[in-house]
Amino acid sequence: MLLFLCLCQLHFAVAQDNEKQPPNFVIIFADDLGYGDLGVYGNPTIATPNLDQMAYEGQKWTNFYVAASVCTPSRAALLTGRLTVRSGMSSNKYRVLFPDSKNGLPAAEITIAEQLKQAGYSTACIGKWHLGHKEQYLPTNNGFDYYFGIPYSNDMDMISEMPYWKYWQQEDEAIKTEHFNVPLIRNTEIIERPANQNTITKRYAEEAITFIKENKAAPFFVYLAHNLPHIPLFTSKEFKGKSKRGLYGDVLEEIDHGVGKIISTLKEEGLADNTIVIFTSDNGPWLPFKNNGGSAGLLRAGKGSTWEGGMREPAIFWGPGLIAPGLITDIGSTMDLFTTFSKMAGVDIPRDRIIDGQDLSATLLNKAPGPRKSIFYYRGTELYAVRLGDYKAHFITQGAYGQFGEKEVHEIPLLYNLSHDAGEQFNIAKKHPEIIKEINELVALHKSNLVMGKDQLAERE
Ligand code: MG
Repeated sequence: MLLFLCLCQLHFAVAQDNEKQPPNFVIIFADDLGYGDLGVYGNPTIATPNLDQMAYEGQKWTNFYVAASVCTPSRAALLTGRLTVRSGMSSNKYRVLFPDSKNGLPAAEITIAEQLKQAGYSTACIGKWHLGHKEQYLPTNNGFDYYFGIPYSNDMDMISEMPYWKYWQQEDEAIKTEHFNVPLIRNTEIIERPANQNTITKRYAEEAITFIKENKAAPFFVYLAHNLPHIPLFTSKEFKGKSKRGLYGDVLEEIDHGVGKIISTLKEEGLADNTIVIFTSDNGPWLPFKNNGGSAGLLRAGKGSTWEGGMREPAIFWGPGLIAPGLITDIGSTMDLFTTFSKMAGVDIPRDRIIDGQDLSATLLNKAPGPRKSIFYYRGTELYAVRLGDYKAHFITQGAYGQFGEKEVHEIPLLYNLSHDAGEQFNIAKKHPEIIKEINELVALHKSNLVMGKDQLAERE
């Protein structure tokens, strides 16, 4: 009886705390991790017990998308809740920002961190940024109180004489972290160059844990964007040779280990009941790198393309006090995190611009049917494909990095039923002109109010 009373009081105390304070949010974002790379998404040899456990305790989404199939626009869309054709963070000249790019995320854009600052959140960006390396574009000028990470991809600033493309296709022991003169930045200062990438995954997790512990009194938002498993692949000594899947598996197992440490910290600090942790990735696997790249599982193609393998990602939502556990087959997008977090934190959605994110909170909290019905698949500033419900129409198809075919414009779009045919193998356009008509109408509506942002990626120094 006494135990029963104590448990009741404990439950009451936690519920009161939760009422006082909006939830904490932690986004763990991998780089170039494919739909088929986690144990819980069917990988037969990569061991991801912590992510698997998160999925069992939380929600596993099977139709969750990024807004672009490469790093810079995918990250910009996640943080702003907007298609990058609106913000100018995608281009037909260069697909991502480079170390000599002139620009970055425009100051007028509003990030999730800026939204959550309005509700008193402490905010940290840990890991790869890739939205502009100059000081005015860094996370600390985009709503984050704290930044620790690299400003662009871990393969940039290469200072090895080996031919780039060949280098990666071999699992070559000669690949060293010193071959990449990538800076590691704390807030706005370079603290290490080249960044030691052998220990970087471990250090990112440690930084996230320290930030959580130091900021647990107020609500917090941690955006932990690992720069791996984007090539070049590196692990700390403890993980080298650990996975049956080789070096790529080692890298994922180290990321998974860090996820487990973060979850343990949230539990130990009494924060688990009021925190939502999301794990997903910025785009699909970089397939030309063979075993150094990941797997899109049953999905077609990978990074760089608008086939499903480029833009559909694993997405796990964990939060034992908030998330209703289950398998979610509704459509979601990384852009929805902007809107969902804002709503949960009680912050108004900006009204002076189009926000593409939708509020997933009813699905997350109660497994109510999701609001999102469509996905726009952009490559640069061109709309290549649209998903509406179960159906996806490709107006333009193109592979990436020399694989999966040249650019082709389809007068009659290719049409796939993604619920029956997630691998996009069987074109059913001839059978369903009425669906193509419906998708065309959606495209016309979308284009009718589209104002394209000034291209921020085109200029280099
Ligand atoms: Mg990427």
